[in-house]
Amino acid sequence: MADDTYFKLLDRAKNTFSTSIKSERRLKIPEPDVIHEGKVTIIRNFTSIIEMLNRDPKGFIKFFTRELGIGITYDPPRIVINKKVDQETIRKKLEQYIQIYVECYECGSPDTEIKRVGRVDILECKACGAQHALKMTKDINQNESAVEEGKTYTVTVSDTGPSGEGRANFRGFSLIIPGAKKGETVKVIIKKIRKGTAIADIVKD
Ligand SMILES: [Zn+2]
Repeated sequence: MADDTYFKLLDRAKNTFSTSIKSERRLKIPEPDVIHEGKVTIIRNFTSIIEMLNRDPKGFIKFFTRELGIGITYDPPRIVINKKVDQETIRKKLEQYIQIYVECYECGSPDTEIKRVGRVDILECKACGAQHALKMTKDINQNESAVEEGKTYTVTVSDTGPSGEGRANFRGFSLIIPGAKKGETVKVIIKKIRKGTAIADIVKD
């Protein structure tokens, strides 16, 4: 099918599908229940957040301590931060934690595990099989939503478009993958990008 036919199709599809694909990808995190007592900040539902993320509370606390530059006490189900930190900052740091330690760098699935291989911590995805060394915080602020034409990526097809084409949400882009089936993990090459949407062809190894 010609490229412009796809673009016509995607204009029609975009309104219907992209919102639902996007919202499915993200993890549903409970809003941090933050209170301030004197000079300290307490996250009252810390345990339920960490359980939902399926991560070690110690690792999370280490990250928070480093990011906020202040001592933190774990007092389940709460954590106590020895400083006044506003709700918005906590929410942002939580988002950042999820980007680094929870969501797969390739497909965005939260179904991941951290494994230590030698001296390196690896984020392994159970959905697409991708393995990456954990990012450093400084890397996360750089533009990593970039998807480039002519490059190949491994993505998990999350939906089916109106003409039966596979749809995937990847690094903030909505991908249209002809011939791909929902649930499949495929290697694709980016053919064309327009705004937030890209057409990708399956690459056979
Ligand atoms: Zn993945």
